[in-house]
Parts: sequence; C-alpha cells; structure tokens
Amino acid sequence: MVLKSIFQLKALTEIWTANDDLRKGNILRETGLTGSLRWWYEALVRGLGGFACGAVDGGCGYEPGKKDESGREIPREKQICPVCELFGCTGWSRKFRLRILNSDGKPASVECRAGREFYLEFLWLKKPGAEESWLLDRSLRIAAEYGSIGGKTTLKPQAKVSAVKDYGLFKVLSEPDVSSSLEEAKKFLGTYKASTTNDPEYPDLRNFFFLKGSFLDKDQMNSFFEALPGTPLENKQDLTIKAFMKGKVGDSKKIFSFRSGGGRVWGYTRNDAELLIAMGALKAELGINDIIIGERVMTGEL
Ligand SMILES: [Zn+2]
Repeated sequence: MVLKSIFQLKALTEIWTANDDLRKGNILRETGLTGSLRWWYEALVRGLGGFACGAVDGGCGYEPGKKDESGREIPREKQICPVCELFGCTGWSRKFRLRILNSDGKPASVECRAGREFYLEFLWLKKPGAEESWLLDRSLRIAAEYGSIGGKTTLKPQAKVSAVKDYGLFKVLSEPDVSSSLEEAKKFLGTYKASTTNDPEYPDLRNFFFLKGSFLDKDQMNSFFEALPGTPLENKQDLTIKAFMKGKVGDSKKIFSFRSGGGRVWGYTRNDAELLIAMGALKAELGINDIIIGERVMTGEL
C-alpha cells in the first residue's frame, strides 16, 4: 500500500515556483514548492524550540552506524535535525515525493493563475511520524492563512494599483486528517539534536508578525523602514534591524505586502526585542494595531 497525504489548494494569485523569469508560462514546480514548504517548516520547527540547520548550509549529514567516542551507535535523530529528517540531507533521502495534480486528480502541468484549484500529493516513500504530519500540515496552513509561497513575492510594492501584482497567495480547501498535537510535536522536536545553535538570522516563527486586512503601499513601506533604528541594538550586532529588514545586497527584504484578498502583510525579525520595535513602527508610523504575532499562529486555532 502506498501511503499518501493529499491537500486540495486554490491559488488566490499567481504562484511563482520557477527559477527564472524567461520560462514560458507559469507552471507549478514541485522543487520550488518543496523549497517554500521547507522554509515554513524550518521557521515552525525553530519557533517551537527545535533546531533546524538551514538548507543553505548544505544541511546535516547522516552516517548509518556512526559511533560516538565510547563506541555507542549515534541514532539518526542525534545526527540530523527534524527538518532534514523529513526533507532529506546527505545520507538520508527525503521521506516523500511531491506531485502536483490537476483539479481532476491527475498529474499534470498546472499553470498557476488566480482561481486555479489543484492538489498537492505527498507520496510517502518512508512513513512519516504523526508529529511530522502535524508539522507539515501546520506549515502549509500558516503559509496559506498568513504568509505566501514561491518566489517573486512582492518585494517592492508600487503606488499605482494597476502596476501591482501579487504572487504566492493560496487557500487550503481540504487537508488530510492529522492525529498529533502541538504538545506532541514539541516533545518530538525535543528528541532531536540540541536546539541552542539556531542561527539568529534564520526565520523563527516566534519573531514573525502578520497583518490581515491591510497592506503597505510604497510610501508606507518606506516610512516603516525609516522608523526602524539604524544603530545597533547591542555592541556585538553587526547588522542593524533596519539593514536586516530592508535586506542586504542580494538578500530579500523581510517584510512582504499584498493587496489581494483585502490585503496582507507578513515579515520577521531576529529576536523578540526587534519584534517589538517592528510592531512599534507599524503602530506609530502607520496606525496599525491589529498585528498577529507568530506565537499565536503556531499555537492558536487556524
Ligand atoms: Zn538539518
């Protein structure tokens, strides 16, 4: 029996999962979607106190039969992080194969425009733990309810409405049953390698903020950046919150704004002190008060 998990999704905007702009049409790519999902999964794992290596590092590595100094075999969960456990790393292959199915349930090239319904099918090559299914489901739903997926996220909102195009918004129409819980997922993450070494620049859902029902135009986005301190908060900090959120050269901004569906904003900082500053800037500069913090989207009802 082949084990599958199937999510039915609806694109609310175009979803951009190709690597280059020159490709004709906008066909959904499994690799692009997997990368985006991994990104949200990592942010959730860190947010719940787990360690996630960050795929850009080349990730973890697994050596079956590897022994510690006293000759005891090191179990896999002490060699790799929980994200690599699901998404794979050197020596340990991904637990699933992702397929994109048309609205009639057949594998197909799905051109992803607004209104398009499609299925994400996870074919399980290795059986996932109930906690992993819970984490995967929550990651996908957080991205759907509050975030976005794929590339080409609106990095520079424009003042002219007609020139604005949003990417990466979608809705979950149906999802597989999950039999785990937040508490069990946390316990599961605690069985993996130490959680004290997360890179502070990597996304951690505890440091995220979300807004629904409003968006920032170009001027408001600039006011937001201007309101952020341009001097380091701590002596050892080499990148100020302003520089971090605006994005270094070749690096993405850390705040994204969408007009579609009544408006949406999401972004992230590196720690709780910065989160308070970012939320303060949104409140003071733009009068926005109904900010949803990452803690709530991780632990609350979705
Ligand atoms: Zn890893």
